[in-house]
Amino acid sequence: MKLVILGPPGAGKGTLAPTISEITGTRHISTGDMFRMNIKNGTELGLRAQQYMNEGQLVPDSLTIDMVRETIVNEQKSDNFLLDGFPRTVEQAEALDAMLAGTGQELDAVICLDVDDDVIVTRLSGRLTCENCGTNYNIRTLKPQVEGICDVCGHELTIREDDQPATVKNRLKTYHTQTEPLLGYYERQNKIIHVDGSGSAEDTNQAIIQLFSERKLDAGM
Ligand code: AMP
Repeated sequence: MKLVILGPPGAGKGTLAPTISEITGTRHISTGDMFRMNIKNGTELGLRAQQYMNEGQLVPDSLTIDMVRETIVNEQKSDNFLLDGFPRTVEQAEALDAMLAGTGQELDAVICLDVDDDVIVTRLSGRLTCENCGTNYNIRTLKPQVEGICDVCGHELTIREDDQPATVKNRLKTYHTQTEPLLGYYERQNKIIHVDGSGSAEDTNQAIIQLFSERKLDAGM
């Protein structure tokens, strides 16, 4: 199965992706995590991506598409995947369709998390992230069991550089101008499934579990 999870920054894509991956047996591929790993490792790609990310802008399509192609086509180990944070532009979506068409495949579905901007701003202003395993928490709504420590791997939690208020505003603007047109793109392909992401992480998790148990999404769709 080939899935995409789409939605504004802070919609809960990274939090829900592990649940969806587990239910569907798909490999979770987050382009944001891949860029952050490249920055951490001081790679050429990381150096080029960092400035765009710190300003809340998108990394150029050519760099991003090459990175994804390397992962899902060249590594040839991603027959089943859940793409999180990619595509983010129509050009990236077209490139993804072309990559898959090259091996006679196509996306099965695009899960879109719907959340209003005011909810996003409140959420991101309280987000804590584990740099080691990528798990997200929130100082008000999704606290770790031990303050400042990741429940999953025990690493220290930090505030992401791009979760600063000015950058959050830019990221939302970028989403509306560059990523939202993808909704129309995938609606025309009849692939979009909308999920309300404005409640708690637990509520949205339940909505996703229900979606799959109703078999609106199954491997044979
Ligand atoms: P995320 O963790 O998905 O919120 O991504 C963090 C940042 O990484 C974004 O604000 C972008 O700067 C960059 N990024 C991640 N995925 C993409 C993409 N598909 N296209 C361009 N930039 C991306």
